[in-house]
Amino acid sequence: MTIIDGKTLSAKIQAELKREVDGMPIHPGLVAILVGDDSASQIYVRGKERDAEKVGIKSEIVRLPETTTEQELLEVIDKYNQDLVWHGIIVQLPLPKHINEDHILMKILPEKDVDGFHPTNMGRLWAGNPLMIPSTPAGIMEMFKEYKVNLDGKRAVVVGRSNIVGKPMAQLLMMGNATVTIAHSHTKNLSELTREADILVVAIGQDRFIKATDVKSGAVVIDVGMNRDSAGKLHGDVDFDEVEKVASLITPVPGGVGLMTRTMLMKQTIEAAKRSKL
Ligand code: NDP
Repeated sequence: MTIIDGKTLSAKIQAELKREVDGMPIHPGLVAILVGDDSASQIYVRGKERDAEKVGIKSEIVRLPETTTEQELLEVIDKYNQDLVWHGIIVQLPLPKHINEDHILMKILPEKDVDGFHPTNMGRLWAGNPLMIPSTPAGIMEMFKEYKVNLDGKRAVVVGRSNIVGKPMAQLLMMGNATVTIAHSHTKNLSELTREADILVVAIGQDRFIKATDVKSGAVVIDVGMNRDSAGKLHGDVDFDEVEKVASLITPVPGGVGLMTRTMLMKQTIEAAKRSKL
């Protein structure tokens, strides 16, 4: 069994990105918009700011009060849509309940939507002609590349069907010529299904839900989950201690997918800057 080292791989990709940015005639710019004072969101956004600094991306955090109206937020996005200095715009989720998330995500120009959540970007991915790909599945594809996981003809099972992880992951696996099944909370006999997977990606938000008996011997297991226990310790959706004994390759939590997600956001910002006319 080999542990997929997200920390080393993301450091390697960040170093490559830094070299690329140093050689660019323009300075890529990423703006993160944060509404309210959700503590987890504050931490995520600061992490993105630090990553941006590391790879030489100019970044700005726009902090708006919890009371910001939908219209006010739309106007802020519009301002950054029009400002050519900014190549990537992210709106940190979740938003306060009085703001319609879909309206906000629709407002970001697809070419600046580095999270890949705009319906145009989701549609392009499903049409097999992607522009921006959600960072988590994009990072997992980089892991497959680095660890030479051949997807062609393999049986892949993705557990979880969210727009940000499960669905785009399934499509990327299919584009890699895997045969893909998407499972969710209504799936019957989940364990039977996961045991058929050569490649198992789990993104459900259920602490150590997948056990060794759910995994085929020699499978590649990717754990997207991030669950904190009562002591504040982070666990994945996969019971790592058990499953590492049967998997051929496995991602740890922490130190796996999460770091790659952040790095891929930087990569997409640089790609957006390269495509821009500046
Ligand atoms: P969502 O809550 O949006 O979706 C969860 C999905 O899991 C749903 O499709 C749900 O099914 C399914 N599900 C929940 N419980 C079960 C179950 N017991 N059996 C089968 N399917 C189940 O979550 P996200 O996709 O946003 O995130 C999933 C996890 O990944 C979370 O822990 C999150 O924190 C983490 N995450 C980590 C990232 C990283 O960078 N490492 C990035 C993004 C997320 P249904 O649709 O039927 O409700």
